Amino acid sequence: MKYRGCVESVIVLVCGLCAQAAWCAASRGDAATRETARDIFKELIEINTTDSIGSTTVAAQAMAKRLLDAGFPQADVVVIGPNGRKGNMVARYRAKPGTTSRPILIIGHLDVVEARREDWTTDPFQFVEQDGYFYGRGTQDMKEADAIAVADFIRLKKAGYVPNRDIILALTADEEGGKSNGVDWLLKNHRDLIDAEFVLNPDSGGVTTDHGRPLTVEFEATEKLYADYQVLATNPGGHSSLPKPDNAIYHIADALGVLEKSPFPFELNTVTREYFGQMAKIETGQTAADMRAILGEPPDTAAIQRLSRDARYNSTMRTTCVATMLSGGHATNALPQRAEANVNCRIFPGHSQEDIRLALIHMFNDPTLTVRYRSDAGELTDQGSDRKAMAPPPLRADVMDSLRKVAAKLWPGAPVIPTMVTGSSDSIYTMNAGIPSYGISGIAIDRDDVRMHGKDERLKVDSYYTGVEFYYQFLKALTTGKARNP
Ligand SMILES: [Zn+2]
Repeated sequence: MKYRGCVESVIVLVCGLCAQAAWCAASRGDAATRETARDIFKELIEINTTDSIGSTTVAAQAMAKRLLDAGFPQADVVVIGPNGRKGNMVARYRAKPGTTSRPILIIGHLDVVEARREDWTTDPFQFVEQDGYFYGRGTQDMKEADAIAVADFIRLKKAGYVPNRDIILALTADEEGGKSNGVDWLLKNHRDLIDAEFVLNPDSGGVTTDHGRPLTVEFEATEKLYADYQVLATNPGGHSSLPKPDNAIYHIADALGVLEKSPFPFELNTVTREYFGQMAKIETGQTAADMRAILGEPPDTAAIQRLSRDARYNSTMRTTCVATMLSGGHATNALPQRAEANVNCRIFPGHSQEDIRLALIHMFNDPTLTVRYRSDAGELTDQGSDRKAMAPPPLRADVMDSLRKVAAKLWPGAPVIPTMVTGSSDSIYTMNAGIPSYGISGIAIDRDDVRMHGKDERLKVDSYYTGVEFYYQFLKALTTGKARNP
């Protein structure tokens, strides 16, 4: 039922707005562009790029061929990678000769999460158009954005457009998993090919809609850092008929009780300050007032406490650490010799994994406990990495202005809001390489229809074509006139 509701409201929205012919043309583009964009999308979806049996090289070569057929010079389009199955495509759209401004880099991953035919209603590696949606693995994450970038490169080229700085497109391997992350590999082995002033990564950001109605245009401007810690108590144990106060399970239970009641300090950065400033205009009543109050100097403590009850706002205001696993004891009638918990943290930019390990030790204040960093591979070490989540880059005026201008045309009334993402994308590599990176996408997805990594992944047909139009207009707005170099 909800799908029918969505479609109807889209029709109402589109029909209503299409009374203004200019908006209609602005949001859907021309028929030839739509046909090319659809062909490219279909081709990409139908090339299996999973880590298990797929190949990003095949997809990279197909996209390279599209660009070469459209007139991009051979020297500006390469497929390159560490082995035959994990190829990446890098294409350069040239500015005027003699341009000194450094390039813009667009990154998009070609690989997709595994999908089994028996779990899906349609074949995940067949591009199926049905009931106003495109179905297939990668329609939301993120072959739609890869196809959009290629289609818009071709459209710009056909229009004879010359940008004020080079635009590089890198379509890469192994973001979702696998051992050959393409962005990491290119930065280490061919940095010259992709070196840039800043990065656009359409893997995050985008338009959140409710039954087709645009609510917000979000873009990712910073990411939290992930970390796991093992909290361990050991004890000589003994017979449970003779209990002692010193008990491994109690030590862990006490530590977790302290963790529960000890939120990390409230923090803001340039991104979350802007986020709460914008959200205050969307929220109402006490919540809106509280958002304004935490932005004051000094921030209002009662307002922080009230906002902290909302999980998303809470995680945007501080580092969070939470117990996620627990085990202990070895017999029903023995005092425990061992108890342990896993504490999972999402670290606010500016702090390292080691900083938070030390903060946990300080918080528990129990010398019988050890707190160790647990790596992604599960190894335990007495010291966490000193790597920090990068402090957010400045919100560039050229990026912000272009985004606001085009968003206002395509999704009138929906505010543009910078966000701090709690997961991580390939931007972590470019950010760590010192290249400011922004998650910007023109794809609109209903908030109850997020199907990335799930079964029957799909994207509204209209959302796709509007996305094609968005990146075309956005890239033009960003690269027309005098290049700005802050
Ligand atoms: Zn993705």
